[in-house]
Amino acid sequence: VNFKKENQIQELNTVKKRNPKWERDELILALELYFRHNPNSISAKHQEVLKLSKILNSLPIHGISSEYVNFRNPNGVYMKMSNFLRLDPNYNGKGLERGSKLEEEVWNEFYPNKSKLRDLAKNIKASVNSKTEEITSPINEEEEEVFPEGKILFRVHKLRERNVGVVKKKKQQALEKNELYCEICQFDFFKTYGEIGEGFIECHHTIPVSEYTEKKNTKLQDLILVCSNCHRMLHRRRPWLGKGDLMNLMEKVSK
Ligand SMILES: [Zn+2]
Ligand SMILES: [Zn+2]
Repeated sequence: VNFKKENQIQELNTVKKRNPKWERDELILALELYFRHNPNSISAKHQEVLKLSKILNSLPIHGISSEYVNFRNPNGVYMKMSNFLRLDPNYNGKGLERGSKLEEEVWNEFYPNKSKLRDLAKNIKASVNSKTEEITSPINEEEEEVFPEGKILFRVHKLRERNVGVVKKKKQQALEKNELYCEICQFDFFKTYGEIGEGFIECHHTIPVSEYTEKKNTKLQDLILVCSNCHRMLHRRRPWLGKGDLMNLMEKVSK
């Protein structure tokens, strides 16, 4: 009797979860493969599909992949690629199931910009290989969700902004010139909050993540000092807003 009960408990423990919906990072990788190999001309057994399935299984965004049923297996990857067909103006077949809104968003964003898509895909894969802790665990889930280039590259971006040496130097320079305030809206933490805000400001790294190269380190001139509000707004917009763009937007609103 006990034996039977134990078996049941074990069974319960190994119940697998349904596959989570595809995230932006994953769709970026799938779409990049789509443009290299149209799903109509390959099968789910194609070398590149198998490769992508492996990569998706190692992306640190859905927790432990073995907890799901057939997580991103080659068939699933191939199906996801086929989902893009319905959006492709060069395809005139029919009978495809409807896909997600995010698929459409990612398609619209990158169909006209395939070289950026390639760069992003390359950088996502490279970051996953690096496996540093900053990349494997979420920093700010809500912010990650809206970051145009996906969760992994949001973490890479944040990592660059926390590059302690350069950031310190940037702040030091501003302090010496008595200019430790937001370069966009002039918000000054010390002036508003007093002592607790003294010396506080955030750093934004202005080089788009699609243009990161592995060896290029954060440079002083690539950083701007921003308040927390302006920083969030910079991260929200796609394509990436520059300092001047955001200033223009604010000016338009205030008129
Ligand atoms: Zn600001
Ligand atoms: Zn930033």
